[in-house]
Amino acid sequence: MQMNALREEIATVLPEMIGVRHHIHQHPELAYEEHATSDLVAARLAAWGYVVHRGLGGTGVVGQLRKGSGGKCIGIRADMDALPIIEATGLPYASQHHGKMHACGHDGHTATLLAAARHLAQTQRFNGTLNLIFQPAEEGGAGARRMVEDGLFERFPCDAIFALHNAPGRPLGTLAFRSGAALASADNVSIVIKGKGGHAAMPHFSHDPLVAGASLVMALQTIVSRNVNPLDTAVVTVGVFQSGVANNVIPASARLELSVRALSREVRLQLKERIHALAAAQAQSYNCSAEVDYRDGYPVLVNAPEETAFAASVAIELLGADKVEIDVPPVTGSEDFAFMLEHRPGCYLFLGNGDGEGSCMVHNPGYDFNDDAMATGAAFWSLLTERFLR
Ligand SMILES: [Zn+2]
Ligand SMILES: [Zn+2]
Repeated sequence: MQMNALREEIATVLPEMIGVRHHIHQHPELAYEEHATSDLVAARLAAWGYVVHRGLGGTGVVGQLRKGSGGKCIGIRADMDALPIIEATGLPYASQHHGKMHACGHDGHTATLLAAARHLAQTQRFNGTLNLIFQPAEEGGAGARRMVEDGLFERFPCDAIFALHNAPGRPLGTLAFRSGAALASADNVSIVIKGKGGHAAMPHFSHDPLVAGASLVMALQTIVSRNVNPLDTAVVTVGVFQSGVANNVIPASARLELSVRALSREVRLQLKERIHALAAAQAQSYNCSAEVDYRDGYPVLVNAPEETAFAASVAIELLGADKVEIDVPPVTGSEDFAFMLEHRPGCYLFLGNGDGEGSCMVHNPGYDFNDDAMATGAAFWSLLTERFLR
């Protein structure tokens, strides 16, 4: 198979799939509400001969296509949810649902996987089982975990799994890879410091939780600077610190909200232990108490070395080595696909969304997925499937 011939085949399905992308973009749906989007995905897959399974993780869809007698199974995931953002692109296909927007390009991820699905159903140059996984609620709702809990990998065994995310600022027609920890864990922590309120003029009758909270905010800064190995990565951000309503009143409580990130399980546990210890000790030293609500969010996303090397080799075959970066730095963002990678080996990779003028970062009201990236993404998914299911 010549790569030019593959590209020409993919080009025949792109106009329709770009139309699908614009339709999804116009009708964005938030986490676990992807009813119309999953209807669209399911209808298309069924029309192309996929066996379609619905309801995993609520609105999740799995399309399965078997070919030949091969025993190998591959899983490829796309996410379908939008964000609660008021779109400001001014595009002709801008969101028709005010306050909802495909500002992370999940419309593009879904349409790109559909383009590959269409192509693979037409050409059928593989031997084994292809599982296309369309998940809900990537944006904080842990839709991937819900699908796993609903028996995703028991019902649809996968020897390896793959997913991509568009990357604004990376050139069009490129793919980027990282083996090992590629994205951070992201945990959410609420801390309520309880003291004893009173009159501002007589602080000696109070136990001031605001002062204890201020001290805790500063103490938390020492976890990364003094406790974590300088060669490891960690983030402890206090994004909310609320206490008090009047200058002449000592409040009874203070509330902190933290975002906590790490690139290894060990550091993740260390941060958790230190935050609990500091909250208790700091509060106690001011005659206050602290209640810590520590909510584990997305785990560290770890790409398996073998599957990452395989995916990168397919990318190089498709695009040439100059269009493929194989050891990009990790980032402290997080991604739901990490839950799936805890159960099956695989690789999460980055698709260049363009680096020209106006190449806007995701989650920005002016962002849009670049339709010109779809050709690369779809061709990659098709070739990856053909090479994995030889
Ligand atoms: Zn996002
Ligand atoms: Zn995203």
